[in-house]
Amino acid sequence: MRKVRKEIKRNRKPKRVRRKDWNLYNSDDLDIVDEIDLSQSERVMPRGERERRRANLRKALAALEEEENSLEETPHPTEEIQGPKGVVVQVSSNLCRVEVNERHLICSLRGSLSAEETGYTNVVAVGDEVIVSENGSDEGVVEEVLPRRSVLARPDVFYSHLQQVIVANADQLLIVASWREPHIWLELIDRYLIAAERSNLRPIICVNKIDLAKDTEIPKATCQPYRDLGYQVIFTSALTSKGVGKLRKALSKRTSVLAGLSGVGKSSLLSAVQPSLQLRIGQINEERGEGRHTTTQVVMHQLERGGSVVDTPGIREFGLSGLRQGELAYCYLEIAAAAEGCRFGDCSHIHEPGCAVKVKVKQGSISAERYRSYQKIYDELPT
Ligand code: GDP
Ligand code: ZN
Repeated sequence: MRKVRKEIKRNRKPKRVRRKDWNLYNSDDLDIVDEIDLSQSERVMPRGERERRRANLRKALAALEEEENSLEETPHPTEEIQGPKGVVVQVSSNLCRVEVNERHLICSLRGSLSAEETGYTNVVAVGDEVIVSENGSDEGVVEEVLPRRSVLARPDVFYSHLQQVIVANADQLLIVASWREPHIWLELIDRYLIAAERSNLRPIICVNKIDLAKDTEIPKATCQPYRDLGYQVIFTSALTSKGVGKLRKALSKRTSVLAGLSGVGKSSLLSAVQPSLQLRIGQINEERGEGRHTTTQVVMHQLERGGSVVDTPGIREFGLSGLRQGELAYCYLEIAAAAEGCRFGDCSHIHEPGCAVKVKVKQGSISAERYRSYQKIYDELPT
């Protein structure tokens, strides 16, 4: 004992005691770390004290375990609310349509639900998973909105400093362009790619009306920069059904948000993918003299093979709100990669000398079209 004291006084480890303690415990014993720590802190203590402390520790551990078990048993707040789970497929003012076990319920929102702490202006959005209570044959109440896996948002119509969720829980963004009528607009594709990158959605580029191309090699060459970046590009024709099978496969079992200008053929394509999807097709409305139909509401359509497609208004600004000039390069994969070679760490790739991005554009290894859209969008963004 005297020797041990002496050791402590010298602020050195009492080696003999420690070695003994190491040998005391089997290395298979999961508590070995606790025991070793304990042995170090109880190096100098009366015989009875060691036992007393160990008993206290055992008691404390047992209490902790009991507490953990009781926590596991405590129902999670989401489980307190009883009712079936559904998916919001349409929203209008304070009502929404919820698909529950292949039935549609028109639901109001429980008054206690508030968007206040979510950072968004709306409580529910298309794609939200919700717990509902049924009150009547086709009616119900949304009792709870479950946590979202992804959010596609845009500035709120009335409170532009706040965001409105347009689609929740989507997996991918289907960017639909047409080769002609209207003419393919690469800058808009780039804008949607930015939106996808920022919202963590996998983008798929679909170039429709390929039947209007005299030589299909030209659309292929035009879209090659996107393929080189690893984006999936599908050429389709809703008229001849070319590429529709590929599109169907790309959509199945996922939630896809549809983006693209009015008139590019989104509705025609969806009907081709699944004939039961009777969407509005421009010509029909025009023939009826109702004028060109523009999609104003966000609607989710379930696919027979699993998955769903969300039809959104063809909004141009989504994806860019809140984006600053300095962040834009990160949304262009090839520019972000080349930027490492720029002379200045904060190079904007617009006017600086020694810009590796501009060199690559000159050499042709970065698409001039992509760089042009970068310059144009950069000029629009706040600093
Ligand atoms: P949306 O506004 O994007 O939903 O476009 P629509 O599906 O309403 O189509 C707009 C117009 O383009 C309609 O007159 C369609 O018949 C036509 N259209 C759609 N897809 C194709 C296509 O692949 N080829 C051709 N030539 N016309 C198409
Ligand atoms: Zn640069």
